[in-house]
Amino acid sequence: MTTAGTPRPRGRQFFANPGPTNIPDSVLLACAHHSMDFNDPAFLEVYDACVEGLKRVLGTRQHLFMYTGSGHAAWEASLVNLLSPGDTVLILESGYFSEAWSRMARDLGLEVRTVPADWRQGVEIEAVRAALAADAGRAVKAVCVVHNETATGMRIPVQEVRAAMDAAGHPALLLVDTISSLGSFEVRMDEWGVDAAVGGSQKGLMLPTGMSFTGVSEKAMAAHRESRLPKHYFHWTNMLARRHRSFVGTVPISLFYGLREALRLLEEEGLENVFARHARLGEAVRRCVRHWSGNDGPRLFCTNPGRYSDSVTAVLMPEGHDAEALRAVALNRFNLSLGGGLGLLGGRVFRIGHLGDLNEPMVLGTLSTVELAMRVAGVPHASGGVEAAIAWLAEAAG
Ligand code: PLP
Repeated sequence: MTTAGTPRPRGRQFFANPGPTNIPDSVLLACAHHSMDFNDPAFLEVYDACVEGLKRVLGTRQHLFMYTGSGHAAWEASLVNLLSPGDTVLILESGYFSEAWSRMARDLGLEVRTVPADWRQGVEIEAVRAALAADAGRAVKAVCVVHNETATGMRIPVQEVRAAMDAAGHPALLLVDTISSLGSFEVRMDEWGVDAAVGGSQKGLMLPTGMSFTGVSEKAMAAHRESRLPKHYFHWTNMLARRHRSFVGTVPISLFYGLREALRLLEEEGLENVFARHARLGEAVRRCVRHWSGNDGPRLFCTNPGRYSDSVTAVLMPEGHDAEALRAVALNRFNLSLGGGLGLLGGRVFRIGHLGDLNEPMVLGTLSTVELAMRVAGVPHASGGVEAAIAWLAEAAG
């Protein structure tokens, strides 16, 4: 096996992580912009267009606040701007990322209630309704949902969560993490009654890591004015006093030149077509993995077909086989970078990211190389999964 210090195989690295994702060359080049005054009228024009474009992708006409920081920054900003010490939040368990958001909420001085869920099946919507109906004193101030649990490859239906809140007649705010769904499949913040939609630059938006944001409803702005958790850099009221109505501090201008190009690419393709491409490629990956499972091979971690994620697939290794060993073979021998299992799923799962700047050859190359790595690593599987993916892609191409 190739060890540290030994060069990787030649050729372009196949990067199949679920975030950060591949950055289109034109976006990379657009990011390579010389420094500018962030109040320069030429930059402000780019900036304002990006704000409007990002709102279109989020499906909102309401507020948008942006931060220099990864997705965690937007998580934190949303909690500190909307809540007060001791407030209760109800977090729908989905996997590693719902747990991480819960830990953050506790660290910030919030009470966390969880709607527990089987990570392979996903939360039951009836359990969400029941938890809210049982909250007679209306202690719960916010319901937090990870729209796409990147660790398990599962999508949670936000509209159904909204409907459960309405059925229980509960006034809590609805906070949705769209970090690995935005730009890959539909997010309709206003239509779905979302109060805070959290997103980040490095996934479906095909940008480098470093910018995150929150779409905020009018109802959430009213809650913000009452919130007492300490905040400064993330303070939305501080932001509103500035020309950019975001960013307390220097604006990361190079990311905005990149964002302008990324939005241009998304809108040139058409969001509907972007979503259809993700659905098609995600299904190709799932058909391949289902085929591999035939010979006691790896299986889809998500066992709820209605909730398959079109941006990432988590693959559960056969008993006694280590996902990290397989990932190491893929990376060191064949220059294919796969996502690892997170938290409790470490060593048991590997993840194939299929979001962002991606096409059929990239997916087929990735799947072929996983199959090659499984042969080399001695992982049992039914060979020919790639053929199942090809058959599907041919059918989809009509
Ligand atoms: N939420 C989800 C669904 C994610 O996938 C991630 C990162 O992968 C995060 C939150 C955390 O974002 P970041 O790593 O950008 O801080």
